[in-house]
Amino acid sequence: MAGTNAIRGTRVGSSAVRWNESPTDRSESIARRTVGYWCCNGHHTEQTFAAEIAPPALWDCPRCGQPAGPDEANPPARPQAEPYKTHLAYVKERRSDEDGAAILAEALQRVRARRGE
Ligand SMILES: [Zn+2]
Repeated sequence: MAGTNAIRGTRVGSSAVRWNESPTDRSESIARRTVGYWCCNGHHTEQTFAAEIAPPALWDCPRCGQPAGPDEANPPARPQAEPYKTHLAYVKERRSDEDGAAILAEALQRVRARRGE
C-alpha cells in the first residue's frame, strides 16, 4: 500500500504541547500591575501591564471609544471631534425638525404621486 510510509512517524498524542501545563503558571512569573481607567461617560475598564513598563496615561474606552484616564474623579475630556457621531446626528445638526417634517411630507407626496393616488 503506497500511502503507509508517508504517515509513519506521525504519532497522535506525541505533540510537544503539554496540555496539563496551566497557562496561568507561566504568566504569574511576570510581575504585572492592573491599572483602572475611567472615561468621561463613567465607564470603567481595567488593563494589565507588565510592571516594568509605565502604563499609558490614556486608554481608549472599549465601550464608547472615548479616551479614559486613571483618575476616576477627573476623566479626560471628550475630544472636540466626535468620531462616533452617527449619520443621523449629522443630519439633525444640519436640519431642524420642521425641515425634516417638510422633507418627509414632500417625499410622501412623491411616493403617492408615483402610485397614482
Ligand atoms: Zn466609555
